[in-house]
Amino acid sequence: MKLSGITFLPTYNCNACCSHCFFDTKACKQYMEPDIVHKVFENYKITKFMTWVHVSGGEILLNQRACFDLIETIQLYFKKNIGISTNAFWATNSSVAYDVVQTLVSLGVNGIAVSADYFHSPYVPLSHIKRAVQAIVDSGITTHCYIMGAQCKSDVLNSNDINSVSQQIAAYVKGNTNMPLAPTNIRSIGYGSKINLPKKQIVPNGKCTDLSECLGKRGPLNPKMVWIDCYGNVMICYGIIIGNIYKTSFAEIIANYSPKQSIIIDILTEKGPIGLYELAQQMNVVVVKEFYDECDVCYSSRKALQPFFSELGPAECYPY
Ligand code: SF4
Ligand code: SF4
Repeated sequence: MKLSGITFLPTYNCNACCSHCFFDTKACKQYMEPDIVHKVFENYKITKFMTWVHVSGGEILLNQRACFDLIETIQLYFKKNIGISTNAFWATNSSVAYDVVQTLVSLGVNGIAVSADYFHSPYVPLSHIKRAVQAIVDSGITTHCYIMGAQCKSDVLNSNDINSVSQQIAAYVKGNTNMPLAPTNIRSIGYGSKINLPKKQIVPNGKCTDLSECLGKRGPLNPKMVWIDCYGNVMICYGIIIGNIYKTSFAEIIANYSPKQSIIIDILTEKGPIGLYELAQQMNVVVVKEFYDECDVCYSSRKALQPFFSELGPAECYPY
């Protein structure tokens, strides 16, 4: 695998419980140790073609000291684009907002994505998000800064109402700044599977092509990026582990990656998510029978199969 970038997931923990979240954000408060970053970058051959690193969660700024230490460690090795995602709960006043953003920028962060939509609004006051946006704009970083809004596809139940609220929220926090809006469709992964309704009785039989939201069509044959979590799990999609850097060097995990390394990834590659659904049926594992799309088939089947396959984990990626 030739990596273009890595998303670090320093924690699954979050102050919020958004109804579309990929993760169980209340199960564990563990935060990534910087030694994971050292292990990732110890072999320059594997990371030298990368153009970006992203740090996401969970809410990474729940533990500000640990977050800053981690980004400082990343910057020791990687001087290109470093982006983060946050829900901005920490921007309790302008002074705090400016301090946090300035610290991030001083550590080499040149992109900050802030979430603002219908789903986040019960947990984070809009005034906090607006303050964070202003502090980001005033910091002068512009390359990869966005107001991220989860939106429902047009065929999803109540999509008009939900998207309309999200658009109003995004417009409010943007105000008269030039921060671009980046609406992203809710994926049928984790709790997102409960949002994407109605489900169809025919099992969708397309291939996996949506491994990454922003790198175009990507499947298990050409992943291009990995997620690395606080347990050292290296994943090609949330909850599909291809190795653990506490057991195997990161260089080996990436250099030796092949869809054939795992029954789950092999089936996913050859047959698509419907193959995992069939596997669950062959194993007499109970799995739901109605799905919104291919990711829904994949997530629901993996959730059912998870107790039997060590590459399906951690538990935080299978919230219900
Ligand atoms: S979607 Fe983001 S802000 Fe919401 S619970 Fe999940 S990690 Fe937290
Ligand atoms: S949920 Fe499954 S089908 Fe969807 S992108 Fe991830 S691995 Fe592919």
